[in-house]
Amino acid sequence: SKPSYKWRRVLLKVSGEALAGDQTQNIDPKVTMAIAREVAAVTRHGIEVAIVVGGGNIFRGSSWAGISGLERSSADFIGMLATVMNAIFLQATMESIGIPTRVQTAFRMSEVAEPYIRRRAVRHLEKGRVVIFAAGTGNPFFTTDTAAALRCAEINAEVVLKATNVDGVYDDDPRRNPNARLLDTLSYHDVTSQDLSVMDMTAITLCQENNIPVVVFNLSKPGNISKALMGERVGTLIGG
Ligand code: UDP
Repeated sequence: SKPSYKWRRVLLKVSGEALAGDQTQNIDPKVTMAIAREVAAVTRHGIEVAIVVGGGNIFRGSSWAGISGLERSSADFIGMLATVMNAIFLQATMESIGIPTRVQTAFRMSEVAEPYIRRRAVRHLEKGRVVIFAAGTGNPFFTTDTAAALRCAEINAEVVLKATNVDGVYDDDPRRNPNARLLDTLSYHDVTSQDLSVMDMTAITLCQENNIPVVVFNLSKPGNISKALMGERVGTLIGG
């Protein structure tokens, strides 16, 4: 029988910013390779991994709508397309080291990827494939953090693991305040009432309503992704 780990099925959220690493290019191949290697290590233990990718390294709808007068809905579709680029890059990287990976998009792009079909996604996971969900929720005015919470609930994953460039959630901005403390655990209420910039409100309340814990952790520390995926304590745990 399989040894038991904390999580059986997880939803890893990788923001666009995290994919960019410290590169001036949109994507740092060292980051995608690190993600691929660490995901490979945990899928070997039978942990099922689904990934939602962001797109902020390429295009963020809300900022462009503000600057250019572009209609928000149009800007957001460009943002969603940006997530597809990241997804294809990540899929190619994963497959280059032998991890079977499927991309599913929230709106149809049949020549590029499968459409999102919940049951099919679950089937892929059961077969040990990694599934990357792209194009967010498929709707403007949402974020990929909300897509992560939504897909997590839909596929009955047990946790949202939010990979970022910081160690977790602090009680103040660590870039401005050197005495800012890294918080170990937080309740959903702490996040919403103190306006801690963890996730947008839609995403965090969706997690709360569905009792989905969220772990915010630093993906640039080697080994951290596998630790988070295996259920070891890293970063900040939000729940309860
Ligand atoms: N987006 C959207 N609907 C969604 C998810 C994303 O319209 O369900 C658009 C939105 O414009 C957003 C962009 O895609 O700015 C990139 O996603 P996000 O900002 O969440 O990426 P991240 O911050 O994780 O890199």
